[in-house]
Amino acid sequence: MSELSIRNLQVSVKLPDGELKPILAGVDLTVRAGETHAIMGPNGSGKSTLAYSIAGHPRYEVTGGSVTLDGQDVLAMTVDERARAGLFLAMQYPVEVPGVSVANFLRTAKTAIDGQAPKLRTWAGELRGAMEKLQMDPAFAQRNVNEGFSGGEKKRHEIMQLELLKPKIAVLDETDSGLDIDALRIVSEGVNRVRENGDTGLLLITHYTRILRYIKPEFVHVFVGGRIVEEGGPELAEQLEAQGYERYLAGAGPAS
Ligand code: ADP
Ligand code: MG
Ligand code: MG
Repeated sequence: MSELSIRNLQVSVKLPDGELKPILAGVDLTVRAGETHAIMGPNGSGKSTLAYSIAGHPRYEVTGGSVTLDGQDVLAMTVDERARAGLFLAMQYPVEVPGVSVANFLRTAKTAIDGQAPKLRTWAGELRGAMEKLQMDPAFAQRNVNEGFSGGEKKRHEIMQLELLKPKIAVLDETDSGLDIDALRIVSEGVNRVRENGDTGLLLITHYTRILRYIKPEFVHVFVGGRIVEEGGPELAEQLEAQGYERYLAGAGPAS
């Protein structure tokens, strides 16, 4: 069973003038295949910094701690190696990819991860099936990756990748933001299908509680000031929905 293990992770962001601004102040978190975790916290608390650090974004410098996937040192891997090892980051490909269609992009990614190209016939069916379930127009597969995608199309494309690439661990950063209620439901159903397969460990990062009406995480972590300040079960999400983050912020100093 796969396990992502984050230990005392400390990360600074590199500012344009070269200075390092400390953001993550020692994060401890374990996500296993089949588990669903939610990280919830106010804006500016460092949630995306955590996601980018796991993804290997060059702007974020790890100054302490470790990240391992099944005992392998993730921080020593290139971005490509992380994907091949089975890590999926939903905002990993937010950029437009000129001249590369969704269909080709997914097939290339699948080939890289599996070490061999998927069988043409079954793959076409899988692609079609994934798009149908997400209520996407088949013509979407021929569009260039992220070129002119609406917010909803970007999110559906993320979930489509998740369903087709079957990663060991997936980190979804603000997958719920900018979605109307119908898109939120369709995207959530996609996440829940991945979850039911039981092969993937999910880390949902969100500012809002509304996605948690559709996806029920077993573990909820409250994230404030670059660290986890409280952990619990689904009841913690309900408590946050009712009370907000105020009581955590009181002792956390001024929000940056
Ligand atoms: P969240 O995702 O919880 O909103 P972020 O990880 O985006 O938080 O940001 C955490 C803190 O790090 C904020 O104070 C933000 O201004 C700062 N930060 C993040 N990325 C950068 C960056 N590229 N340049 C400067 N500051 C950054
Ligand atoms: Mg933010
Ligand atoms: Mg963020």
